[in-house]
Amino acid sequence: MSTNILVTGGAGYIGSHACKALAQAGYVPVTIDNLVYGHREMVKWGPFIEGDLANGELLRQVMRDHQIEAVMHFAAYAYVGESMEDPGKYFRNNVSNTINLLDAMVDCGVKHIVFSSTCATYGMPEHVPIDESHPQRPVNPYGESKLFIERALRWYDTAHSIRSVSLRYFNAAGADPDGETGEDHDPETHLIPLVIQTALGQREQVSIFGTDYDTPDGSAVRDYIHVADLAAAHVKAIEILPACNDSLFLNLGTGTGYSVKDVINAVERVSGRKVNTQEAPRRAGDPPLLVAQPGLAAEVLGWVPALSDLDSIVATALRWHERQLAGDPGYAGSQQQISG
Ligand code: UDP
Repeated sequence: MSTNILVTGGAGYIGSHACKALAQAGYVPVTIDNLVYGHREMVKWGPFIEGDLANGELLRQVMRDHQIEAVMHFAAYAYVGESMEDPGKYFRNNVSNTINLLDAMVDCGVKHIVFSSTCATYGMPEHVPIDESHPQRPVNPYGESKLFIERALRWYDTAHSIRSVSLRYFNAAGADPDGETGEDHDPETHLIPLVIQTALGQREQVSIFGTDYDTPDGSAVRDYIHVADLAAAHVKAIEILPACNDSLFLNLGTGTGYSVKDVINAVERVSGRKVNTQEAPRRAGDPPLLVAQPGLAAEVLGWVPALSDLDSIVATALRWHERQLAGDPGYAGSQQQISG
């Protein structure tokens, strides 16, 4: 008999890769997505329900109708800048709606959840690499909303035996190596897609936010993790949950940092095209260096990143963006010059 996993936000960037990984591992991913940021055409590996997590009755109906065994919860808003301007939007969607989801799980007897958390729960790093015991002091409402849910999950475990694995991603990047899904944010704010779009002539230039950091080349350093590696970690988390005695909180990163300039060089190398850049001031709230201590996830999940070297990340993302640009049927996205 097949095992049905409810995937909230399964039409989004990381959620759609997780659906593919679940299907390949023999599960049926049942996507619920309100399509505010998700793309209907990225739901390819299982049933789709268009709906919002604000609708608790719908959640209960879906859990019962599809005999859901576990949940992967990706649905959330994730624009840090927007969260600073409109915190209520983030607390309503990322916090209240997740509580609805957890209450529906309690009512329907669904006991296992993998939660999409973030290194933004740590705030400004006090030491690097960042391990899971690093203090969690978010510096924006987005990180705060995710931390709130991590804390709520501990209490739902205590009160209702809902066991969870919270996965704190560092910088998700890259695209499905088979080209079946990829990153398509509107607006796009992430470095790697912006650099690639510049290489492909969709943008005139990319800004380097800060060239005077205390890092080897002066630009900011991040731990980029391939989205297919993230997806694989989620499947491992689903698989270990039945044997877990406690809820878990794990970093997902590689432990290796790359600077903004390293990323630009990699895109030029892999694409064979020049990327026009301009130096710009530091972006408010950006730490100079964010790198994971990834050992606990390796130990607990038996997971190590396989595709997260920078060239593989860039090559898979580049292929995805080229196909979008070519207007390949089944690929979401714009074919025009992108402003902003
Ligand atoms: N960045 C940049 N130019 C851009 C977008 C991002 O220099 O147009 C830098 C940003 O300041 C950060 C790194 O690239 O140091 C990664 O940013 P991204 O928004 O991709 O992820 P974040 O680390 O903010 O979650």
